[in-house]
Amino acid sequence: MKNIAVLGSTGSVGRQTLEVIDENKEHFRVTALAANKQTDLLLEQIETFNPEMVAVYDKESAKTVRTRVKGAVRVVCGMEGLCEAAAYEKNDLVVCAVAGSLGVLPAYSALSQGKDIALANKEAMVAAGHIINAEAKRQGARIIPVDSEHSAIFQCLYGNDKKDVYKIWLTASGGPFFGKTREQMRGITKEQALKRPNWTMGQKISIDSATLMNKGLEVIEAVMLFGVAPDQVEVVVHSQSIVHSMVEYTDGSVMAQLGVADMRLPIHVALFYPKRQPSNLERLRLFDRSLTFHRPDMQAFVLLGLAYDAIEKGGSYPLALNAANEVAVEMFLKDKIEFLDIADIVSAVYESTAAKTCATVKEVMELDREIKEMTKAYICAQYQ
Ligand code: MN
Repeated sequence: MKNIAVLGSTGSVGRQTLEVIDENKEHFRVTALAANKQTDLLLEQIETFNPEMVAVYDKESAKTVRTRVKGAVRVVCGMEGLCEAAAYEKNDLVVCAVAGSLGVLPAYSALSQGKDIALANKEAMVAAGHIINAEAKRQGARIIPVDSEHSAIFQCLYGNDKKDVYKIWLTASGGPFFGKTREQMRGITKEQALKRPNWTMGQKISIDSATLMNKGLEVIEAVMLFGVAPDQVEVVVHSQSIVHSMVEYTDGSVMAQLGVADMRLPIHVALFYPKRQPSNLERLRLFDRSLTFHRPDMQAFVLLGLAYDAIEKGGSYPLALNAANEVAVEMFLKDKIEFLDIADIVSAVYESTAAKTCATVKEVMELDREIKEMTKAYICAQYQ
């Protein structure tokens, strides 16, 4: 039995994680759940999975949950509660599926207790990759990627020596606006931007996918997870989302991981790692399918280029890029700004930040808050 904590259990990856756990009841037990405000769904999950601890980030929602469970399960709240659930002594593996930089502290907290993490929260790796890596190393804990591309790369690295890696080919679906120029993206609505061609995912990542910021964050995530240089990561647009990424070795061999576009597969791989286990997921059938590969348009999608700039500069630049983007996406989802404003705002805030180094997660969170405030102020001044 593997004891699993699921942080962000009501989000898209969290729900799919619980589906995989439910399909494999004889292998997994849920020790802790953590969510924010979706109390009804969380209560259902508590009923089904019977965890020993539940963390609710939102304090009001925590009260609701506490009243409804009537002492049957321990309910903790706020960031402190999230970190407590992450570090819970009975956890064997902590699934980190909280969205945004909010996930930094819980991921760190799990690692600092020597817990392996299954990481779906790419923002944590972007904002605090160095610190998270150092803590994992110090505690001998593993970081198992859940992001489909990084799961693919992780699997393509099985049994090979990292020093023989020549390049990582990071695949991108291209998002709903692949092939459009910047001009053609003027006036794009929230509904159009939220439509993802191949994958079912949360709102934040859907917008990031439409601007290609998601791919930019994934470039940074790949550098942090696999210890390669930024220029060893190349993005390739593959709109069928069948190849989930590739690793090219110095001898010229290219290893790829293929599968149906279903997040439950990388989740399944991560939960069972280092073992393989049969699944009931849809099988990939390749007859009469074609696979295409294209160069991304860095002119139309400037945020991807900015991500390369950020990881090359290092220090706090990836954090700044991510923080500005989180605020811009939130404002777009609230109909405060236009689609193209996202890239303009993120670029402007990013260019205005100075180089800094954060030594602790506390410093990371402070700088993250500072840059988010700065971005809000910039939006207020320029767009309202
Ligand atoms: Mn991905």
